[in-house]
Amino acid sequence: MSSIKKIRVRFAPSPTGGLHLGGVRTALFNYLFAKHNGGDFILRIEDTDQSRFVAEAETYINECLAWCGLQPDESPEKGGNFGPYRQSERKESYRKYAEKLVEDGFAYYAFDTPEELDRLRTETPNFKYSSENRLSLKNSLTLPKTEVQKRIAENHPHTIRMKVPVDKNIVFNDLIRGEISFNSKLLDDKVLLKADGMPTYHLAVVVDDHAMDISHVFRGEEWLSSAPIHVLLWKYLGWEDKMPEWAHLPLILKPDGNGKLSKRDGDRLGFPVYAMNWKDPKSGELTTGFRELGFLPEAFVNMLALLGWNDGTDQEIFTLEELIKAFSLDKIGKSGAKFDYEKAKWFNHIWINTIDHNELAEKTKIILNEHAHSLTDFSDGYFSAVLEEIKERLNFLEDFWSQASFFFQQPKNYDLSPISKKWDDDKTIFFENIQTRFEEAGEWKRDNIEKFYKDKIIESGMKMGALMLPLRIMLVGGKFGPDVFKIAELLGKHEVVKRISYALKLLNEEN
Ligand code: GLU
Repeated sequence: MSSIKKIRVRFAPSPTGGLHLGGVRTALFNYLFAKHNGGDFILRIEDTDQSRFVAEAETYINECLAWCGLQPDESPEKGGNFGPYRQSERKESYRKYAEKLVEDGFAYYAFDTPEELDRLRTETPNFKYSSENRLSLKNSLTLPKTEVQKRIAENHPHTIRMKVPVDKNIVFNDLIRGEISFNSKLLDDKVLLKADGMPTYHLAVVVDDHAMDISHVFRGEEWLSSAPIHVLLWKYLGWEDKMPEWAHLPLILKPDGNGKLSKRDGDRLGFPVYAMNWKDPKSGELTTGFRELGFLPEAFVNMLALLGWNDGTDQEIFTLEELIKAFSLDKIGKSGAKFDYEKAKWFNHIWINTIDHNELAEKTKIILNEHAHSLTDFSDGYFSAVLEEIKERLNFLEDFWSQASFFFQQPKNYDLSPISKKWDDDKTIFFENIQTRFEEAGEWKRDNIEKFYKDKIIESGMKMGALMLPLRIMLVGGKFGPDVFKIAELLGKHEVVKRISYALKLLNEEN
């Protein structure tokens, strides 16, 4: 194996739709491993399956990697010395390898028609084309040589299939799982080259990993059962000494740990599974992504990194730079990692409170603007001070509107229910009186306002508790928000008086 090779890893998605968070985690682990070791991170688009190909998916993949900050060193967009980076553009290179495998006795031409194979599949439960039955099927191992040559010359539709050895243990090392052994009896004679001349995934992945000098393959555990096929192909193509090291990443599981997390679980349980919004171009169906729900890329990446990896300490918050530094293979778990949406939200909450304040201000201004274009009459200083007060209440950027809109406009709705039942004339008198006396508070600062307000309560002889919530509801519209005296300070005296008098009117109408 190849320990002195330059580290070159690839993320090799098939452009079939939006990126599942498991896919992005695969990209992330590849990236972290490459960058930790001063290596290259390559994006290769595996678009040989024309039936599942979706043109928009490649742009989505590029955008998603950019959003997460995982810029490839080589990619279809960026180019590089090992291109092209789309398998469809490499089509010509695959046939010769498939034919070489036939020549060397490791593969064969198969002429069975799709109809014949369909019939066999219906007749024989769990039918597989394999060492057990290939000598009774229509292929270059069973037909006379001249017949085979004639069919090829006449362009009869055919595939090239791999000749999997009979009853042999295929053993290889996985960097996460250790030694893995598969008996070849479990494998079928995989198609390597399809009738349309396109390679299948199995052939293309090996040819390309070789051509691109890939040193390590990090991919999801769902590919573990394909690994013995790939190991055999590396050997049969005579490249065994260049074979990459394998690392199959633990699955991301449903929140209850029962099986692999799917897009349907997200729909069912009400959380995103895709990195970004994905609109299916055919059906028009929209699947919401983490990005559009208001996740910061820092939080999304941090959360993904901890699905199946930790640095061996209790540290949970990592920047991408810190992840690169701390990343090591021996800390990747073998067992599946349960996805926990509450935890994902927690990461976002922490990151909202960690990123640069001005950067957060830019992002939250967008939210404010989306809800109310007209609310532009405030200074940067005011916006920044408001943000400072409420940011610890945000799980999502979107929460800015529900948590802070009252700082920018008088509440549209008032929930008076927590105070209206106990409302009485004494309280009305208290607030009528106080409105006219705010001058006495002196400089309009939080502490002065508090002192003034509490003194006035004492003077009135009423209970402190009875008059705190009413003030909050009058200013905010409901039973929420940060420190009420800070709210009063920020709103300004004039606005406070205006809101008290408006709310008094509502309360008196109700009672
Ligand atoms: N094209 C495969 C996928 O869609 C890549 C698997 C691999 O990394 O070998 O995930």
